[in-house]
Amino acid sequence: MKNKNLIVGCGFTGAVLANKIAADFGEDIVIIDSKDHIAGSSYDYFDENGICIHKYGSHIFHTNNEKVWDYLKQFGGFNTYMHKVFAVIDGIETTIPFNLRSLYDVFSPHLAQKLEKKLLEQFKYNTKVSILDFKKQNDEDLKFLGEYIYDKVFLNYTTKQWGSSPESISEAVISRVPVFISCDKRYFQDKYQGIPLGGYTNLIKNILNNPKIKISLNTRYQDLKEKYDRVFYTGSIDEYFDYKFGQLPYRSLEFKLEEHNCEFYQSNSVVNYPNNYDFTRIHEYKYYLNNKSDKTVIMKEYPKPYEVGKNDRYYPIVNPDNQALYNKYLQEAQKLKNIYFLGRLGDYKYYDIDKSILRALEFFEGIK
Ligand code: UDP
Repeated sequence: MKNKNLIVGCGFTGAVLANKIAADFGEDIVIIDSKDHIAGSSYDYFDENGICIHKYGSHIFHTNNEKVWDYLKQFGGFNTYMHKVFAVIDGIETTIPFNLRSLYDVFSPHLAQKLEKKLLEQFKYNTKVSILDFKKQNDEDLKFLGEYIYDKVFLNYTTKQWGSSPESISEAVISRVPVFISCDKRYFQDKYQGIPLGGYTNLIKNILNNPKIKISLNTRYQDLKEKYDRVFYTGSIDEYFDYKFGQLPYRSLEFKLEEHNCEFYQSNSVVNYPNNYDFTRIHEYKYYLNNKSDKTVIMKEYPKPYEVGKNDRYYPIVNPDNQALYNKYLQEAQKLKNIYFLGRLGDYKYYDIDKSILRALEFFEGIK
């Protein structure tokens, strides 16, 4: 007899899993989401100006994983957009990650040349160095540079983003944005990069396009009456267990959209403001799909503490204590039959899109 499957959460993880169960097992799936749309945090929509707005902040697809790329491209084309991020430091716009070119943006040519020479003596070209390691220099000039980058790029941005200093968050988070001993100005170096041509929502709609998959929006797991043979839960595990061991900490965000009567507001899709204002960055959406309009739409991103029922969970705050709490919940979950937790919230991991997809594909291989 075929299983009746329930998937909780309609983001990439849930959608990919639904697609695989429907396509490879031929089983029925109900996929629910408490929101009024599919695509989770990747949700986007075209506004009245024809600009594709990423409702929950910029989402840029990038991967080195052939399996993920081959899987995803069945459901729609991608453009060749390669992401860059600028940051305003002391009123000067430069590229993030801080790289060899950034030296020339923020310092005099003489100082920039001297630092570049020393950097190339110290590190191999095209290497990425975590700022926390970069700061541990013996050379006086490189020590100065390490402190400069730490103070101007990381310290205040991270304090705004996480509500704590760079030392007190996981090194893996800070290392996502290294110091880059290179002239490569891109944010990511992955082989495959781009934005889905019809947007992320359309891509996920295509992934879910199977008569075996029934989508139910505005639906909370707690309110379901029907019983299922298997449940795949991509929400937060603490909520499933009614917070019995306490809440898993998350960071949330608030987004403020603005429409402007000009063709472009800023010089790039994302501009970071590490040291000014309460927002961390401004997104300008028309850059992603090259949408043409006399108007432009920007979004300011304000980090916030996560509060149950008040805002959404965006970033798990991964540290040893929180991981131990997650593990306690996971042990509880493993005592139950036929319920599985996965995804950024279900696994309590800071996944990028490609890692969520890979997790779902590998998980599926495991149950096959
Ligand atoms: N970060 C920073 N300054 C920047 C950009 C990033 O300090 O200008 C740090 C910050 O702690 C951030 C982390 O690097 O949370 C990872 O940044 P990323 O851009 O990968 O974050 P995401 O786009 O996932 O929010």
